[in-house]
Amino acid sequence: MSVLVVGSTALDSIKTPKAENPRLLGGSASHASVAASFFSPVHLVGIVGDDFPKRYIGLYKRHGINLEALQTVPGKTFHWAGEYEVNMNNRRTLTTELGVFETFSPKLPKPLEETPYVLLANIAPALQHHVLDQMRQPKFVIADTMDLWLNIALADLLKLLRRIDAFVLNDSEARLLTKDENLVSTVRKIHRLGPKYVIIKKGEHGSFLSSPRGFFLAPAFPLQKVVDPTGAGDSFVGGLLGYLASRGGSVDAHLRNAIVYGTAVASFCCEGFGLKRTTRISRQAIEERVKTLRKLVAF
Ligand code: AMP
Repeated sequence: MSVLVVGSTALDSIKTPKAENPRLLGGSASHASVAASFFSPVHLVGIVGDDFPKRYIGLYKRHGINLEALQTVPGKTFHWAGEYEVNMNNRRTLTTELGVFETFSPKLPKPLEETPYVLLANIAPALQHHVLDQMRQPKFVIADTMDLWLNIALADLLKLLRRIDAFVLNDSEARLLTKDENLVSTVRKIHRLGPKYVIIKKGEHGSFLSSPRGFFLAPAFPLQKVVDPTGAGDSFVGGLLGYLASRGGSVDAHLRNAIVYGTAVASFCCEGFGLKRTTRISRQAIEERVKTLRKLVAF
C-alpha cells in the first residue's frame, strides 16, 4: 500500500567540525520519502522554487517517488543551514529561509486523497492540518514535529494531536511539550493529548515506543563514524511508515519491526552528508542491519 508524505523539501547547508556542504538535497519530506521508498510506493507533497537543481528531481525519480503533488513555482526553495558541534549531537540552526513555503497551500490530486498511510513530516502544523483535511479516512496517520512549532504554533499542534494515530518527537521536545523530565510519565501525558502511539526518538540512544501493547525499546544501530545526522529522524519515521505500509494489516502486529527497519535506514543517513549515503544503499543492506540489530538485543 502507498504512503503520502508532506513536509519540507529543502536545500540544506550543513557545517560539521570536519566539512562544509552547501545546498544539499534536504528537508523532512525528502529524507522521509527516500527512506519510505525502500518499502512502499511514495507520493511526495511539497513545493520547490525554480532554483531547485534538476538533478535532485532526478534523485527522487530514481527512488520511484511520485512527484505529482510536488509544486515547482517561481522563487527560492526553502533553505536551512545548520552547524554541528564536535560531539555531533548538538546542532545550531544558522538560517531558516522559508522561500516558496511562505505561500504554500498543498492541493492533493483526487486519487491521492485515498492514500492509506500518511506521514505529516516536520513542517508548520497548519500545513499538516491542511493536508489531513483533504484525506479521506486514511488507515494510519503519523506526525513528526520540532521544537520551533512547540514554541510558536503550540495551539495548532495540540489540535493536530487529536487527529492523528501516532506522534513522533525527540526526547527534548517531549520534555518541552509536557514540562516533565521522566520518560514514562511524559509519554502518558502525550497519550492524553490524543495519539494512541507515542514514539520518542533519543538520537544515538535509540527510540522508545508506548502503545496499547505496552512499551518497546529499540537501540540505535551502533556506528563508529557519524558524518552528518541531519535527517536521521525523518529517515527513521519514513522507513517506519514505509515498512508498515508494505505489511498492511494490523499496525500493532508490525510496529516493533517497523521501528527496527526505521532505525536501520536512519543509521545509513548518518553515514553521509544530506542524502548522499541513503540514496546509495539497497534493500539488502537494510536487511543486513536489521539482522545485526536483532542479534544485538537478543539475550
Ligand atoms: P532532523 O535532522 O531529523 O531534525 O531533520 C533535519 C531536516 O529538517 C533538514 O533537512 C531541514 O531542511 C529540515 N528543517 C529544518 N528546519 C525546518 C523547519 N522549520 N520546518 C521544516 N523542516 C525543517
